[in-house]
Amino acid sequence: MTSRRDVLRHLTLAGLVLPFASTRLASAAAPHRPARRRVGQLRITILSTMLADEGIGEWGFGALVEVDGRRLLFDTGAHDDVVARNARELKVSLDTVPEVVLSHFHADHTSGLVALRRDVAPRQPMALARAHVAEGIFAPRVRDGDPTDYNEMNRVRPQYEAAGGAFVVHGAPTQIHPGVWLTGPVPRRNPERNWSVGARPTRVQRGGQLAEDTVPDDMAMIVDTDQGLVVLTGCGHAGVVNIIEYAREVVRPAPVHALIGGIHLFNASEQTLAWTEQKLRGFGVRHLIGAHCTGVETVYRFRQSLGLDRAHCVVGAVRQVFDLATGIRAGVIAR
Ligand SMILES: [Zn+2]
Ligand SMILES: [Zn+2]
Repeated sequence: MTSRRDVLRHLTLAGLVLPFASTRLASAAAPHRPARRRVGQLRITILSTMLADEGIGEWGFGALVEVDGRRLLFDTGAHDDVVARNARELKVSLDTVPEVVLSHFHADHTSGLVALRRDVAPRQPMALARAHVAEGIFAPRVRDGDPTDYNEMNRVRPQYEAAGGAFVVHGAPTQIHPGVWLTGPVPRRNPERNWSVGARPTRVQRGGQLAEDTVPDDMAMIVDTDQGLVVLTGCGHAGVVNIIEYAREVVRPAPVHALIGGIHLFNASEQTLAWTEQKLRGFGVRHLIGAHCTGVETVYRFRQSLGLDRAHCVVGAVRQVFDLATGIRAGVIAR
């Protein structure tokens, strides 16, 4: 019997077999459902976060994902040149990276996209030419008292497309490569509310109405391995528990072998941190690289409460590597 979710998954996979030309929703009919596979090789290298062993740090996130011979860039940093500069410094070529994943619309994850594409395109026309995003990323955003759309993605979009790039919009979980999943928008079953509320509340346009901006486009990458799930987040605004619960439902109810990226808990209350760590313990998290908006204090607290040690739980830094075979290479500052 085919469940509704199976149908959805089946439909969203179709986007991959269509030629990519312009922005589209990955939801046409698929010829068949690809087999579920687990990946054998996975290496994640951090290219943008606050701390840096080499290169420069910034409030933002970006990482190179190398998985079973494929290369993807997950987020593109806060300044238009930091990921490019750090990649050069680390001798990481982005010329052979065809795909980008943008975790959500915030500029500290998306600002490098156009400059990176313009940089690689003359040498490699297919490099960084396809950007996976979740539904809602282009929704207009306004601040209270100002009707101007401040969503930079609506300025990035025409520039990226003019540079030969194309967006693939995911409205549901999608296995973009064998064992490599994007969650699409994550249901908010637990009221985690892991985003910053500024002095002027922000609103998003949804269905012709202005609603509270819960960052509905927040999306994570899930890699299915024999050791368990590897979860990569940008800011984790959907809530790290919501993300992991959804990943375990959609991909496989396996332990979390590694949790890597920003999980926006730097300003969380004591109560939120206590609730989150108790949930994370239940998911059997074995490695944690708490980068970007996770919060330094949060990382050290979680190291203790999750029963991890210095080899398995570190503050994220540029040049750090997580490798499925060898674990975390912490680098100098986070050692
Ligand atoms: Zn964010
Ligand atoms: Zn961020």
